[in-house]
Amino acid sequence: MRAKTASLAVMKLSHRLTNITGGRSDGWDLFFRARAMIEAGAQITELTIGEHDISTSTDILDAMSAAAKGGHTGYAAIPGTTALRKAVAARITAQSGVATSIDNITITPGGQSALFASHHAVLDEGDTALYIDPYYATYPGTIRAVGARPLAVPADSAKGFQPRGADIAAAVKASGAKSLLINTPNNPTGAVYSKPTLQDIAKACIDNDLWLISDEVYDSQIWEGAHLSPRALPDMADRTLLVGSMSKSHAMTGSRVGWVCGPEQVIDNLITLSTHTTYGVPGFIQDAATYALSMGHSLEEQVAAPFRRRRLITQDLLTQQNVVRAAPIQGAMYAMLDVRATGLSGEAFANALLDSEQIAVMPGESFGQAAAGHIRVAMTIEDNAYINAIKRLLAFAAQLASDKA
Ligand code: PMP
Repeated sequence: MRAKTASLAVMKLSHRLTNITGGRSDGWDLFFRARAMIEAGAQITELTIGEHDISTSTDILDAMSAAAKGGHTGYAAIPGTTALRKAVAARITAQSGVATSIDNITITPGGQSALFASHHAVLDEGDTALYIDPYYATYPGTIRAVGARPLAVPADSAKGFQPRGADIAAAVKASGAKSLLINTPNNPTGAVYSKPTLQDIAKACIDNDLWLISDEVYDSQIWEGAHLSPRALPDMADRTLLVGSMSKSHAMTGSRVGWVCGPEQVIDNLITLSTHTTYGVPGFIQDAATYALSMGHSLEEQVAAPFRRRRLITQDLLTQQNVVRAAPIQGAMYAMLDVRATGLSGEAFANALLDSEQIAVMPGESFGQAAAGHIRVAMTIEDNAYINAIKRLLAFAAQLASDKA
């Protein structure tokens, strides 16, 4: 046994696997420190991860259980069941106005797997793939995991974290990039890309022959206006791979149901990828997702309602002080707060807040350079506890700012 372990230790793992995080911290150090404090018995208020404070509804779980007990426990259809692909296609058609059929959809184990599959579909070994900074923590690692090279395009906090086509075009010129990954509504910034921003991005994609991978997993969490998918813009459907998920819209994070929506030929090839990787998503979970989608928009509104409420609470509390500023909180379950007036980096602020106030938030720097000096607050705890935490956070920032003055 020991000899085997010793020989395993010298066996070489692939660079592709060991290099997924690029040799850097994956940005979750503070989160793990908070979790360790909780395990050691500390009372920590956690505003770190994008997980609802409700569980999957019992109706959906009943549908899951009925499907499993009814026998849908064997290998399920690898592209996804026809019923679920139809339901997803209908949701996308209704939301975007772009006629979408089941041939444009394949079901994946969550949006994360869909992000991996989409990059796998359009990048070869060594290709460069663009993504916008600030970014969701897994993005550069997902790109490295398919053997490609991630290159960040910064979005300016002073412009509400809206990316600019000119910056995308410049990055393509410098790198020969083949794809661009965007996310609206955005994690971590809470920005929703405006129509002019999306038109500018679309133009940069068309002019520079880029695939667009559009992560729309927060499409049901928009606080003003409606969700706009770049796939709906002129000449974009053929070069856009839309990534979606049941995780955020239906509080089904643990069920692992997502999809890629794109041109039929891409979907055909992604089904081959699924055959050789995941072998599909469990049938009873797909049936539960089909049931959840049959409940329509009102269920999605219900799941989004706590974040809609807490966004107003956050905005209201922020107006009562002038140390911490917020980027516009337009969608998703996050507020990106600028704490530069305290004199601290986002990371130093988050660590000090954890130690002094036992409140855990994510440092902006965990999500890239463009969010330096910021912290991301996940609006994911019950309202009264949330109000209390934000008040203490703001008082802590005010104290730091006055100590500095
Ligand atoms: N994209 C973004 C922007 C996310 O925040 C997340 C999860 N936090 C995902 C994709 C992946 O979600 P899932 O795999 O649960 O669908």
